[in-house]
Amino acid sequence: MNLNASRPLLLIGLTGGIGSGKTTVANRFGALGVPLIDTDLIAHQLTGPGGPAMPAIGAEFGPSVIAADGRLDRDAMRALAFGDPGARKRLEAILHPMIRVETDRQVSAAASSPYAIVVIPLLVESKGPKRFDRIVVVDCPVDTQIERVMKRNGLPRAQVEAILAVQATRAQRLAAADDVVDNGGEPGALQAQVEALHRRYLAFVKDGALLQNPPRERDSQT
Ligand code: ATP
Repeated sequence: MNLNASRPLLLIGLTGGIGSGKTTVANRFGALGVPLIDTDLIAHQLTGPGGPAMPAIGAEFGPSVIAADGRLDRDAMRALAFGDPGARKRLEAILHPMIRVETDRQVSAAASSPYAIVVIPLLVESKGPKRFDRIVVVDCPVDTQIERVMKRNGLPRAQVEAILAVQATRAQRLAAADDVVDNGGEPGALQAQVEALHRRYLAFVKDGALLQNPPRERDSQT
């Protein structure tokens, strides 16, 4: 155990397109006792009622993007960003450093575990892969993604396709992957894949394979 280290020996970045099944897969790792750090959840907490990002967001965009209970009004923010392309970048400039700090805090808190998983929806798009030892991509056909999100969110096909159009392509994501979880089938097909990866990650740590043959360069900041 590396109790004094500031992070687990192995840090896995988990990503995938919208509706690919990131949360479903991450939860299966969680059920095996693996610490999960969910950057989407962190973003929601930062922008919830009284969230630490809300004062800066209010100062930047004014009260129209703040809901009555104090949370970020996502619909209002989306509408504002639609008419002002720079708005999304200004929001990200506030949120991303805060997400990074909280992610690092949670990674440090998991330092005594052999490995931890950080779920980052836009990992491939964000040019941030270097801080992870390995990247696991949850993959399924694009049509399956579209159908799942239409069903889950009650959105029309065109709206889901518009979201997909601004994400990395399936091929780009697979090219960045060290490991792939195939979630194109039944949820029941996930367990064996997750357990196989879990055994593999534990073996990396146990055998010290990482130190002899690092799958990815480590980020000196983490
Ligand atoms: P998002 O990017 O939108 O946060 P996600 O990648 O985390 O999504 P999930 O929330 O895990 O994906 O799954 C998307 C939807 O598809 C959910 O409603 C989930 O229950 C369903 N789902 C996930 N995997 C499967 C599967 N193998 N078969 C059928 N439905 C599935």
